[in-house]
Amino acid sequence: MGIAENVAAVRARIEAAAGGRRVLLVAASKMNGADRVREAVAAGVDACGENRVQELVEKRAAGAYEGAGLHFIGHLQRNKVKYLVGGGVGLIESVDSVELLGDISARAQRLGVVQDVLLEVNIAGELSKSGVSPERLPELLDFAAAQEGLRVRGLMAIPPISVIPGANRPYFARMYELFVDIGGKKYDNTSMDFLSMGMSGDFEDAIAEGANMVRVGSAIFGARDYGAGR
Ligand SMILES: *Cc1c(COP(=O)(O)O)cnc(C)c1O
Repeated sequence: MGIAENVAAVRARIEAAAGGRRVLLVAASKMNGADRVREAVAAGVDACGENRVQELVEKRAAGAYEGAGLHFIGHLQRNKVKYLVGGGVGLIESVDSVELLGDISARAQRLGVVQDVLLEVNIAGELSKSGVSPERLPELLDFAAAQEGLRVRGLMAIPPISVIPGANRPYFARMYELFVDIGGKKYDNTSMDFLSMGMSGDFEDAIAEGANMVRVGSAIFGARDYGAGR
């Protein structure tokens, strides 16, 4: 199947899982060239999500994302913030430290813009993963509340890769609890609008547990070929 058919099939599955709720579809477009990304955009994904700043910069220059939103979803190094803020990246989904919040705020203020971000939560407590622990979220929210030039729009999580259907549901459910809890607390600069969780293998479970943004790669673009090229 082609990219357009895949996007339509993913949309249909999202709708079936969402029961009338609106769920945004972010195409996780890493390792797919500008032409393929443009196909996904033409097929109507809401946004594209990139993992690597260098790849985003190259594909952005090639006009890959025109007509859709652009999110950054990968591990972000502080010295790369300058390539994202003010560069058409509507949402940085993967902010997990006060240092990054500070850098984003400083850069945004210098440019006179407001950068929307999500806080990435390491919901399964995996040592190998980025993301802030649930216990440390209040520290980031307190810090963000005092920063100009940014808004926290919600939470993002990447639970473990699982081959067992439904295995991640408890993590998704815990994320939804955090999302609702923070939303009730009225932090400055924060509105819990987006809960980004769910990938090709588990987005229906994530939606059932309250996700309103899913990041889908291989179900749209096919399996990634890690052996080729890069
Ligand atoms: C690659 C990636 C996805 C999508 O993964 P698939 O399993 O291919 O759908 C989602 N989120 C992040 C952060 C990713 O890096």
